[in-house]
Amino acid sequence: MTKSPHLTDSANDFILKLPKAELHLHLEGTVDPLTLAELSRRHPTPLPSTNNRYKNLEDSGRVFSEEEARALYEYKNFTGFLWAFKAVTERLRTAEDYELVTYRMMQKLRAQNVLHAEVYISAGVVQWRGQEFAPLFEGAERGRQRGERDFGMSLYWIFDAVRHFGVEEARRVVDEAIRFKQRNVVGIGIGGDERRAGPELFREVYEHAAQHGLRLTVHAGETVGAESIWSALRDLKADRIGHGLHVADDPELLHYLAEKRIPVEVCITSNVMTGCCAVVGEHPVRKLFDAGVQVTLNTDDPDMFHTNLLREYRIAQQVFGFSEDELRELAKNSFRASFLPEEKKREYLAKF
Ligand SMILES: [Zn+2]
Repeated sequence: MTKSPHLTDSANDFILKLPKAELHLHLEGTVDPLTLAELSRRHPTPLPSTNNRYKNLEDSGRVFSEEEARALYEYKNFTGFLWAFKAVTERLRTAEDYELVTYRMMQKLRAQNVLHAEVYISAGVVQWRGQEFAPLFEGAERGRQRGERDFGMSLYWIFDAVRHFGVEEARRVVDEAIRFKQRNVVGIGIGGDERRAGPELFREVYEHAAQHGLRLTVHAGETVGAESIWSALRDLKADRIGHGLHVADDPELLHYLAEKRIPVEVCITSNVMTGCCAVVGEHPVRKLFDAGVQVTLNTDDPDMFHTNLLREYRIAQQVFGFSEDELRELAKNSFRASFLPEEKKREYLAKF
């Protein structure tokens, strides 16, 4: 895909030095081609058919060179992106795999001066494949603990369900999140195809999570309009909105989010790469920010979308004209909108 805006490196140092948090980041989408090639060498056999519910996965068990893995990430459309995503998740099979990708993700985040991250881990995909999630999560936890120690940053998990796998599957994801709450699991989310499963279906599942003290985020208004965001707020009592691309279509919604200080996890490059937003210049990030919405910048699946958080800030600066003061405000928002306890937020905000 060649829709990336032309960016210069100027003032990159200012952006790098800003302390930042990232709040909308999928672990599976941080696997770079080098790591994918490594994982493919670890698992040179197809997944057993009982564990492989992906249809037509002809490259299951294929060993990729780094160059071939790179080529896989150069897709032309959304289907190509899904293939790449499946190629990765299909090779995340053991605790060691999860430990490796978690640690490498944190290393890349810290290099961008990201001091705190809230990371989606797709418990939904693991369960749907018929694998047990708990032992794999143990590996991810080892990676987190090593990463926190080695890089001096904090990381919370958000267990992510796939909405079009249905309500029962989502319920199981929430049960896992409750079970691991003491292990830095701070909340739950739902992603996947909004057209096939609206937020209202998950009302009880979300209520159950909230009763157990989990925080709530919902991918909403990514592929469908503002009504999906209203439903996430009304039916699911979402603490944060993921994407919210269609917030700006509805002045009343824009006003409501600003007034209630409900943060939006904006993912500019992701929206362009998936075709949800036709061209980068049409992204509503500026409109949301100017209306007083608590906007945060995020990468979604950085390695698959050929981006990182520094680049998202540069897009805000160079495409949408955010001043240094405004970029600083975005970085502050990333801590304000986090699920960190108040005293931790204050600690991070004191660094500005
Ligand atoms: Zn996402």
